Amino acid sequence: MKTQKELQNISVQYLKGVGPGRAKLFANLGVENIEDLLYFFPRRYEDRTNLTPLSALKIGEWQTVAGDVLGTDNRRSWYTHKHVCEIVLVDKDSRLTCVWFNQPYMTHYFKPGEKVVVYGKVDVYKNRLQMVSPEYEVIKEEENEHLSLGRIVPIYPLTRGLSQRMIRRIVKHGLEQYAPSLKEVLPYNIRQKQGLENLVKSILNIHFPESFPLQGKAYKRISFEEFFLFQISVILRRLSIITKDGMAHKVKDKFLDDYIRSFPFELTSAQKRVMGEIADDMKRPSPMHRLLQGDVGSGKTLVAFWGCILAKANGFQSAFMAPTEILARQHFETLQNIARNGAARDMRLALLVSSLDKKEKEDVVKEIEGGKIDLVIGTHALIQEQIKFKRLSFVVVDEQHKFGVRQRALLSAKGLPAGRQGLNPDVLVMTATPIPRTLCHTLYGDLDVSVIDEMPPGRGKIKTVLYNTTKALEVYSQIRQAVKAGQQVYVVYPIIEESAKLDLKAAEEMFKHFQEVEFKDFSVGLVHGQMKKQQAQKIMDEFKNKKVDILVATTILEVGVDVPNATVMVIEHAERFGLAQLHQLRGRIGRGKRDSLCILIAEPVTEEAQARLKAIVSTTDGFKIAQEDLLIRGPGEFFGRHQHGLNELKIANPVTQLDILEAAREEAISLTKVDPRLEKVLNRPIKKLIEKRYPGYLSMVTAG
Ligand code: ADP
Ligand code: MG
Repeated sequence: MKTQKELQNISVQYLKGVGPGRAKLFANLGVENIEDLLYFFPRRYEDRTNLTPLSALKIGEWQTVAGDVLGTDNRRSWYTHKHVCEIVLVDKDSRLTCVWFNQPYMTHYFKPGEKVVVYGKVDVYKNRLQMVSPEYEVIKEEENEHLSLGRIVPIYPLTRGLSQRMIRRIVKHGLEQYAPSLKEVLPYNIRQKQGLENLVKSILNIHFPESFPLQGKAYKRISFEEFFLFQISVILRRLSIITKDGMAHKVKDKFLDDYIRSFPFELTSAQKRVMGEIADDMKRPSPMHRLLQGDVGSGKTLVAFWGCILAKANGFQSAFMAPTEILARQHFETLQNIARNGAARDMRLALLVSSLDKKEKEDVVKEIEGGKIDLVIGTHALIQEQIKFKRLSFVVVDEQHKFGVRQRALLSAKGLPAGRQGLNPDVLVMTATPIPRTLCHTLYGDLDVSVIDEMPPGRGKIKTVLYNTTKALEVYSQIRQAVKAGQQVYVVYPIIEESAKLDLKAAEEMFKHFQEVEFKDFSVGLVHGQMKKQQAQKIMDEFKNKKVDILVATTILEVGVDVPNATVMVIEHAERFGLAQLHQLRGRIGRGKRDSLCILIAEPVTEEAQARLKAIVSTTDGFKIAQEDLLIRGPGEFFGRHQHGLNELKIANPVTQLDILEAAREEAISLTKVDPRLEKVLNRPIKKLIEKRYPGYLSMVTAG
C-alpha cells in the first residue's frame, strides 16, 4: 500500500491507459498526480440503471436515453442556409432524431448499428421527436453494461482529446489501485458526531455511486472536509491578526461631533453607527480588520475618512487605496473638500498615482516618509516598495474585490518599517458587493463586518427599462430631452478582452456619430481605459463641470464615479455585462434629487443573460441583486475564486450546503481552540492538508 505522500508523487502518466500524451491532457484538467485524479470529481451523474425507452420520452424534459444508430444525414437548411447534421436513433419501433447545426463533422462520430446514449431536452419538430445538440456517448461493445451503462454514470469535465469513456476507465483504474491508500483526514469523533462516511468509501462513491443515497453521503462527507479545512484556514488567519500588536488610538467624543457637524447634510444613522464601530476598533490595542459593506451610493467614503481623522488626531498617517486612477482622484478631491470644511482643517493630503510626473512623485514619496503627509490617497502605486511611511496606523482599501489578498496585505505591511519593531495598522476594506448575511460570518470569519443598510434621504428614483436594438430613435430622443433639461447622460459600451479592439471601435464610432451627427448641437465626450490617464481625467473633469453633456464611456465608469447631475444612463449590449457590473454602473445615476432613467439595450440570447436583465430591471436593491447574482453564477464566480480560499472548494457549495458549512465551522472552532497550531499527532493529517491547500497560513500563527 502507498502512503498519501506517495500518491502525490506518482504522475498519472504511469496509470494504465494514460501515458505521456494523455498525461498532458489531464494536466489541462488540473490533474497531474494520483491524488489529483482521485479528487477529480464528476460534474454530474446520469442514471442509466434503467434507461427510458424512446417510446416513453417526455416532451420538454431533459432526459437520458439510448438507441441504436439507424442512419446519419448532412444537409443544408433551404431556409436558414445553416448546415444541419442529423442522426436517427431507434429502439424497437420508436425513433429520436438528434440534430446539430453547423457541425458537419458530427456524422463521422456515428456508425449505423452502434449504441449511443444521449442527454438533452426533448422537443417536437415537424411531427418528429428530436434533441438539439445533445450530449452524446457512443458505447463500444466491450464495455457494454460496465462503466457506461446499467448504472449511475459519472459525467466528468472534459478537455479536447479525452472522452467520458476514457476518463471513466482511467479513474476506475486509479480507484482500484490507489483508493485504499488514502489516509483519513477527519478525526473519528468528528465523523461520528456529524454522521460522516469514511474517506475511502466516500471517494469510491463520489465517482461510481452504487446508489443516489450513497452518492449523497459521499458528497456530504467530501463537502464537509472541504469546508472544515477552509474554516480552519479562516480561523488561523483571524488568530494571526488578533495576536499582533496594533495601535490603541485615543478617541474623544468631541472629534465625532465636530466631524458630523462639518457636513452640509445629516449623516444617516447607519453611517453614524458604523463610525462608532470603527472608533471602538481603533481604541483597542489589537489591529482592526473590518469589512464595510454598503450599497453603491450609501456614503462609505466619508465613513472611511473618519478613521483617517482619528489616526491624524493621534499623530499617525493613513493610506486610502482605490482601484482606478479616476476614482483615486475623485476621492482626493472629495476628501479635500471635507477637510476644508472644519473638523479636519489641518489634515495634509496627498495623491499618489502612476501618472504623476517623476518629480511630483518623488516629492510625495519623500513627504510620506518624512511624515509631512497625514493621508495619502492612491492606486496600486501605494504598494510599491519605495513607498515608506513614517508612522502609518490606518489603511482603507476601497472596492476591495478589485484587489487580491496579497495587494491588501502589502499595503497593511507598510506600517512595519523594515528592520524596526513596527505596528500593524488598523485595516478597513470596503465593498459595494454585499454578501448575504447568512454567509458573511463563515466566508469572512477573519473579518469583522459592518453594514451601511440605509441610503441617504432625498435621492431621486431610478427607473430601468429594457429595449431591443430597434429602438435607437426613441433612446436618442430621451437623451435629447434630458440634456435640454440641463442634465447629463452616460452612454456605456462593454469592452471584453476577447474582442477588445472591435469593442473599442464600436464605442469610438458611436462617439463620432453622436458628435458629428446625432447630437452635434450638444457637447459629447469619450472616455475609455486605453486612453492616456491625463486625457481620461481631463474628460471626466469636463463632465463633472458640465462642459460635457453626453459621455460615451466603457466600463471604466464602473467604480465610484460620482456626478449627481447625471440622470440618464444608456447601456449598450447590456446582455454582455455581469449582474454586479450592471448594478455598479447604474449606481452612477440616481445620485441627485431628480429621478433618473437607465436604458438597457440588449438582445439576450442565453437563459443566463435573460435572468440577469430581468433581475436588474426588477430591483435597485443591492442585496437582492447580489442574492440573485449568487444564484445565477454560483459561489465560485460570485466571490472571485482567488479571493478567500474559495478555490479550494471543489464540490462544496456555501449557498446550497450552508448547514454543512455551519457544522464544519463549529468543529473547526473547537479543534483550533484546543490545538491552534495543529501540533497533536491526531491532527497531523489536517496540518498537512492545510499546508498544501492554504500555504503560509499556519506559519502566520506560529510566528505571531
Ligand atoms: P459609496 O458608498 O458608493 O462609495 P459615496 O461615499 O461615494 O458612496 O457617496 C455617494 C454620494 O452621497 C456622495 O456625493 C456623498 O457626498 C453623498 N452622501 C454621503 N452621505 C450622505 C448623506 N448622509 N446625506 C446626503 N448625501 C450623502
Ligand atoms: Mg465608493
